[in-house]
Amino acid sequence: MPRLAYVNGRYVLHRDALVHIDDRGYQFADGVYEVVPLIDGRIVDEDAHIDRLEYSLDQLSIPMPVSRAALRALTRELMRRNGIASGIVYMQATRGVAPRDHRFPNGVRPSLVMTTQRKSPLPQAQIEAGVAVVTMPDLRWRRCDIKATALLGNILSKQSAVEQGAFEGWLVDDSGDVTEGTSTNAWIATPDKRLVTRNLSNAILSGITRKRLIAVAAEKGFKLEERAFTVAEAQKAAEAFITSSTSLVLPVASIDGKPVGSGRSGPLALALRQAYLDFVLAAPPAL
Ligand code: PMP
Repeated sequence: MPRLAYVNGRYVLHRDALVHIDDRGYQFADGVYEVVPLIDGRIVDEDAHIDRLEYSLDQLSIPMPVSRAALRALTRELMRRNGIASGIVYMQATRGVAPRDHRFPNGVRPSLVMTTQRKSPLPQAQIEAGVAVVTMPDLRWRRCDIKATALLGNILSKQSAVEQGAFEGWLVDDSGDVTEGTSTNAWIATPDKRLVTRNLSNAILSGITRKRLIAVAAEKGFKLEERAFTVAEAQKAAEAFITSSTSLVLPVASIDGKPVGSGRSGPLALALRQAYLDFVLAAPPAL
């Protein structure tokens, strides 16, 4: 089955899919995106992802390229044509194609690209071992609430983490508090089993997995504190973990080489991961 991409109204072979060199996404990273997880045919928290896409576009004064209903239909059609049940749907909307000029162009149609990507679940051994995290200064801009395609700060930090042998980098603000991971939200569990994750602000992305896990955890009776925490508090925590559309709920085993808790995945993080998956799989498949 050939892999297809959706590009501005057409389904094209993924390997031949192109956007114009004057697309403002290419010129200025003047665009936003979403990564929607597909788990066994479920489109996880689809409405919340479309809400956030609308929010990000609105913050940049870019109109929605197609309606919400059309986005939902395109997602299903791309899944069907690509025969994909597990992985991600990627959607990217930019301000559109216009001669290069910093000012917003007039009368331009926003561009929309959608792709799917198959992803195999992380090996169970890695989930049980937990992953290593290293910390680094948060070099990003002050509107991290917008899911912008401008990800230089994120990718440089991720690469630095990988080069240090870690799975993720945790970004630390000027006050010494953890904001979030380079592509994940950061969590800890205190010794008395309260969950802590940074409060929403312009300093972090409002993660859809974060939001869902807050609801799932509340149902399981967990107490939650949405507040900043330092690297030192995280290293002394009972457990730590990260959330995102691609890693779901992933236990953290060490921070800057110091083991967190037992130095392996903790029972709370593993229980929350399972509770999250139970929530997802309780819904019927989309197709
Ligand atoms: N923070 C950042 C910087 C991210 O890139 C992501 C992944 N998109 C997240 C948090 C997690 O968000 P979500 O749960 O919506 O994938």
